[in-house]
Amino acid sequence: MPMKFEFAFSKSHRPAGGVAVLLQVAGSKEAAGATVVDPEGVLPKAAKIGKFTGKALSTLDIVAPHGSPADRILLFGVGDAAVLTDHDWLKAGGAVAAKLRSAEKVTVFLDAPGVDVTGKAVADFALGMEMNAYSFDSYKTKKSDDDSKPHQKPIKVTIVSGMVIAAKKAFVTAQAIGEGVFLARDLVNEPANVLGPVEFAAKAKELEKLGVDVEILTEREMKKLGMGALLGVAQGSSRPPRLVIMQWKGGKAKEKPIAFIGKGVVFDTGGISIKPASGMEEMKGDMGGAAAVTGLMHVLAARQANVNAVGIIGLVENMPDGSAQRPGDIVTSMSGQTIEVINTDAEGRLVLCDALWYCNDRFKPQAMIDLATLTGAIMVALSSHYAGLFSNDDRLAERLLAAGSTTQERLWRMPLGKEYDKMIDSKFADMKNTGGRHGGSVTAAQFLKRFVRDTPWAHLDIAGTAMGSPTDEINQSWGSGFGVRLLDELVRASYES
Ligand code: MN
Ligand code: ZN
Repeated sequence: MPMKFEFAFSKSHRPAGGVAVLLQVAGSKEAAGATVVDPEGVLPKAAKIGKFTGKALSTLDIVAPHGSPADRILLFGVGDAAVLTDHDWLKAGGAVAAKLRSAEKVTVFLDAPGVDVTGKAVADFALGMEMNAYSFDSYKTKKSDDDSKPHQKPIKVTIVSGMVIAAKKAFVTAQAIGEGVFLARDLVNEPANVLGPVEFAAKAKELEKLGVDVEILTEREMKKLGMGALLGVAQGSSRPPRLVIMQWKGGKAKEKPIAFIGKGVVFDTGGISIKPASGMEEMKGDMGGAAAVTGLMHVLAARQANVNAVGIIGLVENMPDGSAQRPGDIVTSMSGQTIEVINTDAEGRLVLCDALWYCNDRFKPQAMIDLATLTGAIMVALSSHYAGLFSNDDRLAERLLAAGSTTQERLWRMPLGKEYDKMIDSKFADMKNTGGRHGGSVTAAQFLKRFVRDTPWAHLDIAGTAMGSPTDEINQSWGSGFGVRLLDELVRASYES
C-alpha cells in the first residue's frame, strides 16, 4: 500500500472528504483540527460514549458529523504528551496507518493542544505510516478481498502541522531511512530461488546510482586471496559465491571508515549436517545481516551522510552435494588460521571470518560491526525481543546500546572471555567451528573475535530479530529490516562529522 505525502499548515488546511485523523492527548478534551472537521462540536460526546480518553495508541473511529469537510474521523490518542519520544511518533504513525487500510485520502492533524510537534516528529509519523503499510506481495497474482493487497493506487496523505518547512526537510531523511529498511525487508522476504549470491550482488550494485562504489569479487578472486573458509561453505552449491564491497565516501578524505560486515547465506540447508525439514523454508532469511548492511549503505548514501563507511557482504549458499564440505574437513582462512569444520551448519562464522579479515586488512577501519543471523542459541537466550551484542570495546558497545534504545532495535550485551575461547580449540587445527551446545552464541562470537585483531569490533547476532519476530506498529513484515535504523542512528550519533 504505497503512500503519497503532502505537508500543510494547520491554520489554512481544510480536507476535501476522506478520513481526518485527529490527535488527542490523554486527559485533554480537545483534539487537533477539531475546529475544522467538527464545526458542531460533537466529538467530546462521541469520545465519552466511545470511552475514548486519549490513552496512547487508542482510537475512536466515527462517521464525520453533518457539516464536516471530512467523511470519516479517526480520533487517535497520543497518551502523555510530556513523555513522547521520537520512537513514539514512529509508532503513532504506524498505529494510525493500521486503521486506514481501506482509505484513499487521509488528512492527519498533529497539533493537538499540549503537544510539541517538531519537524522531525512529523517526518517520523509519516515514516511510521509507511513502515506499517509495507507489504511484500509481488508474488500474489490475484487481488484479494482484503483491500490492503496490491494493485492499489497510492493513498494520498496530507499531514497538517505548524512545522511544514522543518517537516519537509526532515522527511527527506526519513524517506532515505524508509527506503533502506524496505530494501532490507525485500531482500529478506525474497525467496532463495530468485535471490542467489549473484542476484544479491547485482542488487547491491544498484547502489552505484546513489554514489556508492561497489566492487564484486568472484570465486576466482576470493581463491587468490585465500578465503578458504568462505569458499568451503560455497562449494556444495551450484551457484557461485560473491563478496561485495560497498564504499560510501561522505566524510573527510583521510578519515578512517567505519565498517559493516554482513552474513549473506542466501539459503542455509545446514549442508551435510543437514537441518530438519520443519521450518527450513525460513532459512531463505539467513542473509538478514547482509540485507541490513545493504539497506544501511542505501540510507547513508541517500541522505548524503558525512561519514566514510564500508559495507562488506559475504554471499554464499550452503547446500549438501557430492562436492560439499564434510564434517572433519580442515580449511585455511584468509588469515592463515586453520579451522576444523565440526558441523557444516555452523557456516555463518566461516563466511564472516574471511570477510572480517579482508575488511580489516584492506581498510584499517576505525571500527567494525558485523551482523549475522548466526545462532539459534541467541533466541534461546533472548527470544526475539533483543539482538545479542558482543564486543571487544566498551565504548563501541555503549554507543550501540544507546542507538538501540533510541531506535528500539534493542541490543543486549553478552559476555566474551578466555573460558569461552578455549571451547573452540581443536585437536587437529587452530580452532573448530563449534563449541558445543552450551553458550553456542558466545562461542560463535568468540570464533569471530579471532579474526579482528585489536580493531574495535562488535558482533550483532540477529537470528531472532531479522525475521519472523513478533509484528508491531512499525513492522508487519516477516523480514523486519532490523539493524538499518539502529546503525544509521549509531553513525549519526557517533561517527558523523
Ligand atoms: Mn547454519
Ligand atoms: Zn546459517
